[in-house]
Amino acid sequence: MPDELLQRLRQFHDDYFPGVADRFQNLVKDGQHPTILFIGCSDSRLVPYLLTGTGPGELFIIRNVGAFVPPHDGSTGYHGTAAAIEFAVLNLEVTRIVVCGHSHCGGIRALYEELSPEATNLAAWLELGREAALPVQVTPEALRRTEQRAIVLQLERLMGYPMVRRRVESGQLALHGWHYVLEDGEVHVFDVKTGAFVPAALSAHSGTGPFQDYIDQGAEESGDTTA
Ligand SMILES: [Zn+2]
Repeated sequence: MPDELLQRLRQFHDDYFPGVADRFQNLVKDGQHPTILFIGCSDSRLVPYLLTGTGPGELFIIRNVGAFVPPHDGSTGYHGTAAAIEFAVLNLEVTRIVVCGHSHCGGIRALYEELSPEATNLAAWLELGREAALPVQVTPEALRRTEQRAIVLQLERLMGYPMVRRRVESGQLALHGWHYVLEDGEVHVFDVKTGAFVPAALSAHSGTGPFQDYIDQGAEESGDTTA
């Protein structure tokens, strides 16, 4: 039986890599200097390089279920997402952090559904999105709003990382909340001033921080993060 995955590895090496070998060899020689930390959902339909027109060496990427950010609460453990955030900010000195959720997110939908009792880690992880869930019937609109509220919630948590907050407040680091609509191929960027997600085609910027004022006031008052 042919091993299709092995064939693909060979094709990459033989057909694709020669065209980009110089680029990779320079990235090895000079090291990586990505300026963007991209925190995205693990969903297979979200392809960060395609969205952002970037290639090797340009994005430092964290992916997990829901594009969630755990709290910086002083606990230590196998906190892969938190560790990667610390590395990106302290060592790589990225100048932008993008939190990118998306439409039809299974992680967000799972907030409204029963999980397998075996999925103990998943159940605990999804609690990072719990505050974004709405006490309403599950509709496409409710899911869309929950996806967007979850993105803002993660931006708020990012501001709880001392090294992030310090750099945002001194203007060295910008935070971006993005909601990618799979079926339209368009990112809606969070505008902290209006509390709305705005299609990239209509937005004057790709996202700004800090977000604390919005979280403290706007989200609670309006209960809505949608445009
Ligand atoms: Zn997702």
